[in-house]
Amino acid sequence: MVKDQPIIIIFLGAPGAGKGTQAAGVARELNMAHISSGDLFRQAVERGDELGLKVKAYMEKGTLVPDEITIQMVLNRLAQPSSQKGIILDGFPRNLAQAESLDRALSAQEEAVWRVIYIRVEQPELIRRLSTRWLCRKCQAPHTREAAGGQPSVCQKCGGELYQRADDSPETVKKRLEVYFNDTTPLIDYYLRKGKLAEVEGEGAVNIVTDRIVSAVGGRA
Ligand code: AMP
Repeated sequence: MVKDQPIIIIFLGAPGAGKGTQAAGVARELNMAHISSGDLFRQAVERGDELGLKVKAYMEKGTLVPDEITIQMVLNRLAQPSSQKGIILDGFPRNLAQAESLDRALSAQEEAVWRVIYIRVEQPELIRRLSTRWLCRKCQAPHTREAAGGQPSVCQKCGGELYQRADDSPETVKKRLEVYFNDTTPLIDYYLRKGKLAEVEGEGAVNIVTDRIVSAVGGRA
């Protein structure tokens, strides 16, 4: 791993592959910043600001927010000071236009994406995870509906309130997976051809998947 300049690692995978959970865990472990485009959009919607009002309808439908809005938001965030050790990008880029814009912006600063971690999970497991998922409002830890006792209850890690994401409803999950297969999967080939892709098996216990990712990134720096 390069030590003297912040590196950028992209987490790629379908909705429900565990990108958010793994990005948070790996960022903690490697002392990196975690930037999630979905979280940035959800925070804007919660604030009800101009960005939030613009993106709410796309998110509710499970479609992608237009590239000009998304790219500008992520590049602005990347321009802010972050962890010295680097940045994990979770949920961005989501299509070829976004990947190319990111490459252009980084190469203008003589930087480049360091590695792309593709977290692979089969479709039936994705659907199972998304349709039973409840998140903690405070720490974002995911819980399954069974573990939450069939009802929203409290987070088993921090006691925070659990909620179900509005876009985890069955119709929206179907749409999000469709968008992923049409728009996002071409990125697997894009980064493979650039020699940046590392594929990681995303099924199994959270800590085991984290270990697989840490070794694919290049170890605990
Ligand atoms: P996520 O939390 O990554 O599943 O994202 C939730 C929603 O935010 C997506 O369904 C999109 O509507 C929007 N979104 C997040 N990241 C992007 C992106 N890179 N490009 C376009 N829309 C995005």
